[in-house]
Parts: sequence; structure tokens; C-alpha cells
Amino acid sequence: MMEIEEFDRICQGPGEKIIVDLVEDPLAFPRLVMGVGAKSMAEWPMMDRTLWPDPNLPGFPWPLEPECGWGPGPVATIITSRVCPWQCVFCNEASYIPNMGRKPVEMVIEELNYLDDTYGPLGSVVIHDSMFFQQPTWLQEWLEKYPRLAHRPWPYWAAARSDTARQWPDLFEALVRETNWNTISIGFESGSDRVLRILNKECTVEDNNFTIDLLNKIGEDFQRQGEQPPKFWANIMLGIPGETREDAFDTIRMLKRMRWVMPSIAYYAPYPGSALGYQLIAEGKSLMSKDNYHRYPNDEKVKGIDYPFYNDLLAGKYDHEINRGLSSHAQSKSGVYQDDLVKA
Ligand code: SF4
Repeated sequence: MMEIEEFDRICQGPGEKIIVDLVEDPLAFPRLVMGVGAKSMAEWPMMDRTLWPDPNLPGFPWPLEPECGWGPGPVATIITSRVCPWQCVFCNEASYIPNMGRKPVEMVIEELNYLDDTYGPLGSVVIHDSMFFQQPTWLQEWLEKYPRLAHRPWPYWAAARSDTARQWPDLFEALVRETNWNTISIGFESGSDRVLRILNKECTVEDNNFTIDLLNKIGEDFQRQGEQPPKFWANIMLGIPGETREDAFDTIRMLKRMRWVMPSIAYYAPYPGSALGYQLIAEGKSLMSKDNYHRYPNDEKVKGIDYPFYNDLLAGKYDHEINRGLSSHAQSKSGVYQDDLVKA
């Protein structure tokens, strides 16, 4: 950003405590300003969504959002926490801003009720926290209050980790069953312990399998009761430096075991700011150039990765090998995942 002269002022880190002064009198500040953050999201005023540009498209529910495949529109995107405390080496947010106190449960529900009254009726919610399923005390309060105080327990998308789903399975299950958490985003990333260790994911294959079995079981119950089963939004990475073909086969086997799933697959991207990204850039192995930081999932991003193999893998060419050892239900699932390369 420093090299781009169009940026008049750059605020590094969180900026809640200085943003108004900065905008009112930018010349009183140096070009690079160290941000000062709020201690808690409880200090944030409610966002005025009418400040967002109105695309004036037919049927666009501005200032809410149209449905994007996760739940019915109009959609309200919110966050209840900022910055994930884990340190997976491919992820970079904690290196830019520290995390902060979570938004109180009642404030979150009040905001949704206000949006429903003012611009609704709301169809569904996206809780776009990097990590929703953390802090059991907050989650317990959400479990008690959301179904009771929200105008309607709108279905929502939110993220979890497989190790914490395994650590607090009752809480996880209750949230899925009782709060309409029906699209559960989980960064499974890999079906190989070796690769999960490379990524510092701090989750194991056993954690991943536990969470898959639990959600499959919940889905079967929903189905028996004639209800729509909750779905995994399964984040999967391939083309990770150090990954072998057998590791990649294990990842596809893991994916095939998920019964109700929307796969979100990407080839690993060495972003600056992340520990592994910095390492690969320093070693001259990144193929991502400065003017080329985008989120196309299937680009070749790291030198030395056998991308033709991965393209064949997602085209289902190794299905026979992958199906070995899988249940007949998992075997019957298509091994073609090219259309699921959805983000990087
Ligand atoms: S990948 Fe997910 S769990 Fe890991 S640090 Fe990023 S947001 Fe947190």
C-alpha cells in the first residue's frame, strides 16, 4: 500500500479509536498511522447499511444481500467476533490485527431484529466470523437466547473447527439442532495427519472423522423426521507443499464420507502475512506476483507442485484407487470435483 500513491493515509492494524479523527482531519496524521482499536465489539455502533452502494439491480434487496447459495434471501451478513485466535500457517489475519472482545449475544440479536423490521423480512443470516464456534460461554448464551429472542431463528452459515466440535460435541450438536445452524463451514483442509501438521492446523484426522460422523448422524435424524439435513461447507486444500499423492487421496476419501456437503476446494496459495506464505516467498517458490493476488482457486501458485496430477484427481481419474476401503455409500459418490474449486 505504501507504494501506491493513491492511498493518502494508511491505518495499520485496527482503527476504531482513530478513524473519525483521521477522516475529519487527515492532514493532522502521518501517511502511515498506527491504528488504535476498541477493546470489545460491544463499543461498536450498529452499522448503517444504507451507506453501502446500492447496485440498483432488479430484485436486489439492498441494503441487505441476495441469497448466495447458503440460505434464502434477503440475507444479512454480520460478525460476532473479530480475528480467529488459531494460527494455521496458511491463514494470515492474526498477523494484521489482534482479536478483541466478542459482541454481546443480545446486541447481535437486536441488530438482526432491527434489520428484519426495517429492511426485511430476513430470509437467512451469514455469521461471517472467521471462527464462530469458540468461547463456549458465549455459545451457550447464543443457544439459549437466539431461538427465544430473535423474531425467527433464521437459518445461518457459520464456521467451526473439527477439534473443538470434538471437544464440545454436546454444545455443537445443540447449536445445530436448536438454533438452525444449518450450513456449517469447517476448515477440514486435509485428510492426512502429516499435512495437517505441515499446516499447523492443530486438528487431526481423528478430529475430522469425529465431526463428519457426528454431522452425518444428525443429518440422518433430520432426514428421518422429514426435515432438511444441515450441510457441511467443507473447506479443502490441495497442492500443499510436502503433500504426497497418497495424502491427496486421503483428502478426497474424507470428502466422500461427508453425506450432506458443499465442497469448497482450492489449491494452496502462499499469501504474504501467513507464516508458510512468507517462507515460500523467501525461498522463491511462490508463483503469485504482486499484481496477481486474487482468489482464483485453480491457478498454479507454487513452484514444484504437480498441478496436472491435481487436475486429474479432481476430474475423477483416480476414483478407483480412492474408493478402496470406503463404504459403499461413499464409493457411490462422484469423484469429480472440478466444479467445487470455489475459492483460494
Ligand atoms: S484457517 Fe480457520 S482456524 Fe485456522 S487460523 Fe484461519 S480462521 Fe482460524
